[in-house]
Amino acid sequence: MTPAARVGKGASKPSPRVSKRMRSVRVRDTAPELAVRRMLHALGVRFRVRPTDLPGRPDITNLRRRWCIFVHGCFWHGHSCWRGRLPKKNVAFWREKIASNQGRDTRAESDLLERGFRVLIVWQCELDDSERLKRRFGKFFRYSPLREN
Ligand SMILES: [Zn+2]
Repeated sequence: MTPAARVGKGASKPSPRVSKRMRSVRVRDTAPELAVRRMLHALGVRFRVRPTDLPGRPDITNLRRRWCIFVHGCFWHGHSCWRGRLPKKNVAFWREKIASNQGRDTRAESDLLERGFRVLIVWQCELDDSERLKRRFGKFFRYSPLREN
C-alpha cells in the first residue's frame, strides 16, 4: 500500500485506525531489516538485534565493538529518494510527522556518537543495489572482500 492510500479520501487527519497503525510502525523484523541482517551474516559480522537501552533503539548493534546500524524506511524517515516523497493529500500533516521523525533520528544519532558509538544509517532504497550497499558495509567494518582470496 502506498502511504497516500493509508490516509483515506479527503481526511484532514488520519482516522483512528490509521493512527493506530502509525503508532505500530516500529514493527520488528521488517523486510529491509531482515535483508540487512542477512547481508551482515554473509559478511561474517557479529551483531545483536535491537537492545532497548540505547538512544533511538538502533535496529542492529554490537555493544562491545560500539557500533550500531539503523535501517530506515525511506518514507517514514524522510529520505530524499522517490520513496520519501510526501503524499499529495494532507501534505502539512505528513511534513510535520516526518520532520518529527527526522528530529528524533538526528538526536538519537548524536547521542550515540557522544557515547562513542559508530553509527551507520541504511536506507530501505539502498537494498535495491546490494553490491553498492556491501561496499558501504565494507568501509564501515573495514572489511575488504578482495582480501579474502
Ligand atoms: Zn530512499
